[in-house]
Amino acid sequence: MKKNCFRLSALIIFSLSIISASGQYLAPTTRVFTRQDSLRGSITPERAWWDLTYYHLDIVVKPSDSTIYGTNTVTYSVLKNAPVMQIDLQEPLKLLKAEQDGKSLGFKRDGNVYWIKMAEIQEPGKMNSVILTYGGRPKISTRPPWVGGITWKKDSSGKPFVASACQGDGASLWWPCKDHMYDEPDSMLISVNVPAGLTDVSNGRLRSVVRHKDNTSTYNWFVANPINNYGVNINIADYAHFSEIFNGEKGKLDCNYYVLRENLEKAKVQFRQAPMMLAAFEYWFGPYPFYEDGYKLVEAPYLGMEHQSSVTYGNGYKNGYRGVDQSGTGWGDKFDFIIIHESAHEWFANSITYEDVADMWVHESFANYSESLYVEYYYGKEAGREYVLGTRRNIRNDRPIVGIYNVNYSGSGDMYSKGGNVLHTLRQIVDDDARWREILWDLNRDFYHQVVEGSQIEDYLILKTGLDLKPFFNQYLRDIRIPVFEYFVKDSKLFFRWNNCVPGFNMPLRIYVSGEEKNISPSTAFKSIDLGVKNAIIRVDPDYYVANLNMTGT
Ligand SMILES: [Zn+2]
Repeated sequence: MKKNCFRLSALIIFSLSIISASGQYLAPTTRVFTRQDSLRGSITPERAWWDLTYYHLDIVVKPSDSTIYGTNTVTYSVLKNAPVMQIDLQEPLKLLKAEQDGKSLGFKRDGNVYWIKMAEIQEPGKMNSVILTYGGRPKISTRPPWVGGITWKKDSSGKPFVASACQGDGASLWWPCKDHMYDEPDSMLISVNVPAGLTDVSNGRLRSVVRHKDNTSTYNWFVANPINNYGVNINIADYAHFSEIFNGEKGKLDCNYYVLRENLEKAKVQFRQAPMMLAAFEYWFGPYPFYEDGYKLVEAPYLGMEHQSSVTYGNGYKNGYRGVDQSGTGWGDKFDFIIIHESAHEWFANSITYEDVADMWVHESFANYSESLYVEYYYGKEAGREYVLGTRRNIRNDRPIVGIYNVNYSGSGDMYSKGGNVLHTLRQIVDDDARWREILWDLNRDFYHQVVEGSQIEDYLILKTGLDLKPFFNQYLRDIRIPVFEYFVKDSKLFFRWNNCVPGFNMPLRIYVSGEEKNISPSTAFKSIDLGVKNAIIRVDPDYYVANLNMTGT
């Protein structure tokens, strides 16, 4: 539990005024948020009074009729007495029963929310549990993982191949929970009953498998660390399994791989990139954040997702993103995008987690940037640089990277490639690679297993770099314009300023004066410096994500 920033109105209308890259205002677009968006996206009073400590999700998954039935036992400590608890469960699933201390509790459906009436006084400091019984046919994803839901597929021998994916849409589309990122259970037990011949792979470690008389089996997976709600997952198939030990920063890390039998040989080759990924990211970010839970790569019937300690994989055992280099430089062909990108989220998403999806850049900008750091680790600094600059072709500058708070609304897809380039630009300003790596380590140590607001990460980077980065973050995260470095040379003098930018934008810049490196500090007002030579040729370092304009056009 962190804070209560609840604000609920029946209808919130945000007018999104868009400014084009050329500084022109485009027609504002209006997006209407509903009361349901606020219930889903804010810390309501019915959520704020209880602090989640433990979940035991115990379900039966039946591929034969695409149903899930079971219970979720929610254990929490009481922060304040309150009469009503908010539990999220999305239609068409239904809550069938709610109990506390053997007593049935009354409840009322309100769209995707259930209001549970507490029968007893909730005494502050006390640890209580509610058992929620639910079931039905959960939403089927039409486009996993971008549209949340369950995917019911078959492998090539006709056996069920089932998985959940729910980032954005929310975990409550397949199990009842507190579906807001601000609060995570300290640990979780996931018990999944599946038909004979199938295995369930969820998060954490396999504690036991219980075989039943009806030939079904229950797989009990225990997660020893806090876990965010969309990170929880089920993957059910006739899996083949292999494993290895990675000798890492914190000792021995067991890596387990679950793949369809038909892909076992391919996986044994492709998944060699998993320990390579671990070596690279432990170098850049510090120890893998979940040694207690191990690391897993699990084949899923969709592209992939960063499920905590159970990264799902469906990239077709090919390098690139479904075989395509996203940067267009050739470096993206050197690694399997899903293994590298999704696993980077163990540090940035699963260990350091956004509180509000409006700050999803904390996950995606760092994960995108991680791809170039992986390339740099194995192929050198120039290669990593080429990769990150290459991904600029994916930037749209359509909407700000930061979304809208309290209504479950994320920002532009630019949180990926633009976000990666913003971090690469920041590295240029820091201008000290050892220090930069130290900051990345510190970030992972100081926000280890924490839910954060994006502004905390901004403030931390300001503190650690000692730089005035407020206008920098406002420019790149909350505005869509690319700042333009405007300059002209007159005799031996260089005149320059920033334009097309937020007020006070003052990013230092590296330029080359007839090939010679020079660091300058432009602001929005013109400045001049004496170059000591006449008619020098000016070139802006392309590592900075900026535009430049020689005002004399020469
Ligand atoms: Zn991602």
